[in-house]
Amino acid sequence: MFGLIGHLTNLEQAQTVARDLGYSGLADQDLEFWCSAPPQTVDNITVTSVTGQTIEGRYVESCFLPEMLANRRIKAATRKIVNAMAHAQKIGLDITALGGFSSIVFENFNLNQIQRIRNITLDFKRFTTGNTHTAYIICRQVEQAAPKLGIELSKATVAVVGATGDIGSAVCRWLNTKTDVADMILVARDRARLQALQEELGRGKVMGLEEALPHADIVVWVASLPKGIEIDFDSLKKPCLTIDGGYPKNLDSKLKHPGVYVLKGGIVEHSLDIDWRIMKLVNMDVPTRQMFACFAESMLLEFEKWYTNFSWGRNQISVEKMQAIGDVSIKHGFKPLLSIVES
Ligand code: NDP
Repeated sequence: MFGLIGHLTNLEQAQTVARDLGYSGLADQDLEFWCSAPPQTVDNITVTSVTGQTIEGRYVESCFLPEMLANRRIKAATRKIVNAMAHAQKIGLDITALGGFSSIVFENFNLNQIQRIRNITLDFKRFTTGNTHTAYIICRQVEQAAPKLGIELSKATVAVVGATGDIGSAVCRWLNTKTDVADMILVARDRARLQALQEELGRGKVMGLEEALPHADIVVWVASLPKGIEIDFDSLKKPCLTIDGGYPKNLDSKLKHPGVYVLKGGIVEHSLDIDWRIMKLVNMDVPTRQMFACFAESMLLEFEKWYTNFSWGRNQISVEKMQAIGDVSIKHGFKPLLSIVES
């Protein structure tokens, strides 16, 4: 059986979802309460592949909220993740994806050192970050959405914001070897890591965000921001394709900007309806079919019985592994989301 460990994007959303799920006692609780709330199994899932194979899974809500990081509630944040992992293992899940910030918290705070949670010894082979499939899907979104806007990759500059991250570096590797993209701009804060990536790729310009944006035909957003940032949309090229793979979303824009197109990044659509309710609660447009690519990775590992931590550690995602997970993604009926909207 597969598992998904997820979290909501902010306290307000957590309160709304608690109300919708019938946990009315939780709906008025503040961040302090969520810091002490235990993990919960909140959904039972049945997924059928286009091959006809059917699998079962569980969704575990970790009760982590990105505000815990912003408010320096680090201990609470780390406890949420390891407790959710222990819960997943206890209920017998064979392979579980660490969605959104779960894997970032796990890696950034070296939680692999905390293997023992009460009477459970965590078996890390049962967990995957899902980042290989996420990176693959974002790359396919770049390749398939750009031509729809008349952007030719062979003439385009792609800026990757969060380029040195786990997903960002994988996206850069793929674009570098699998496409004929004209130029890449690498954006992040740590200069030394940017230079190391530039050396590995053998190309790419290192720039700050504001400097990079006016040069980009395509912007891939995969920075681990606890909340969206505002940018100067007027500074972007027209047309500009922005693919926002962050969770929570990196971009914060409620206004319309003609010529700037936004695609929800790292989202897949399954070919068949899925019997679950959780994607409705995180506001997917087609909740019976759409989901985060990291969650789909644990489904794919279950379909293929690849019970291993397929995506693990940091910045080790190879193009070969992206291709391998991409092949089984197609085989089981998942497609990259391609509904582009003018922002
Ligand atoms: P990482 O922590 O590995 O990488 C984050 C990257 O963002 C680093 O390059 C970091 O570099 C950069 N960054 C952080 N803050 C800033 C900033 N203020 N300005 C510019 N760059 C910044 O994260 P992941 O690659 O694991 O995840 C990236 C995003 O993808 C997250 O939002 C995550 O929630 C989301 N995600 C989406 C999934 C999906 O299925 N759609 C699945 C998994 C994750 P530096 O610190 O040097 O700035």
